[in-house]
Amino acid sequence: MDKKLLTIVVPCYNEQESLPLFYQAIKEMENEGKLSSVNLEFVFVDDGSRDNTLEVFRHLSQQDDRIHYVSFSRNFGKEAGIYAGLEKSTGDYVVIMDADLQDPPAMLPEMLSYIGTGEYDCVATRRVDRKGEPPIRSWFARKFYRLMNKISNADIVDGARDYQMMTRKVVEAILAMKEYNRFSKGIFGWVGFRRKWLEFENVERVAGETKWSFWKLFIYAIDGIVAFSTAPLIMASIFGLLMCIVAFVFIIIIIVRTLIFGDPTSGWPSMVCIMLLVSGIQLLCMGILGEYLAKTYLETKKRPIYLVQEEK
Ligand code: UDP
Ligand code: MG
Repeated sequence: MDKKLLTIVVPCYNEQESLPLFYQAIKEMENEGKLSSVNLEFVFVDDGSRDNTLEVFRHLSQQDDRIHYVSFSRNFGKEAGIYAGLEKSTGDYVVIMDADLQDPPAMLPEMLSYIGTGEYDCVATRRVDRKGEPPIRSWFARKFYRLMNKISNADIVDGARDYQMMTRKVVEAILAMKEYNRFSKGIFGWVGFRRKWLEFENVERVAGETKWSFWKLFIYAIDGIVAFSTAPLIMASIFGLLMCIVAFVFIIIIIVRTLIFGDPTSGWPSMVCIMLLVSGIQLLCMGILGEYLAKTYLETKKRPIYLVQEEK
């Protein structure tokens, strides 16, 4: 039987130090015969790096003609990088890996063995712990996954990484989702197919530093919710309904009170509080609406997901 081709897709943003180490790690595994069941192909994506990542690509691809690369005209984000990588991939199987070795290559043989049985279309991984991460960040992350699963029908797993191996069928399904606001975790969950989960313990990155600040993660979470759930929109209606009920009860109380005690002019402070509360809720709901509108606006422009400056 012919050997299957495995494409390794690596989105890179300022990874000049990590990438050679990554390539080295894969080479070592090959030399040890751990990847002998497949032929390899690499697709490196340079997501508008400001360091010499592209130089590293060129250099490596001269040594190894299984290396292909795409370089973006600017930073488009990891999601765009993944999309470009998948588009360029030709393998029967495709695996997405970070350049910083936080996605342990040692898991590749196990992934291959599962996918090779034909029982699964996709072998995904999740971190079972969040060692080395600020506790507050972990707390927010957990809450986010809980909420997300309640309000959307994309099956999003806590600790799920983008590190996953999939068959061509799944790759095609993901590529068919051409949305501009790409929330990969949601997209992977949304397409479905038969998935096997593997677990591993968090590994710290080998070199360079993470591109995620707390604020960036927060925005990312909001994007995820907006992309895969319309539940927040319903919140506005629920708030409105609650307010109406409360107002109705108040009106009755006031009418009854006026009938019994006459009409002394008081209650100005409570009035101000109520006005503030109501206008606050109105603004919040408008904000939520605006968020969806903004995303819709960007989608309707049908801008390309990424622009290529150089590729091989
Ligand atoms: N990355 C990217 N574009 C970006 C940010 C990150 O392609 O705008 C890549 C990065 O080079 C790395 C992977 O995405 O290979 C994960 O990034 P990082 O290690 O910073 O995230 P973390 O592991 O901390 O979640
Ligand atoms: Mg990382």
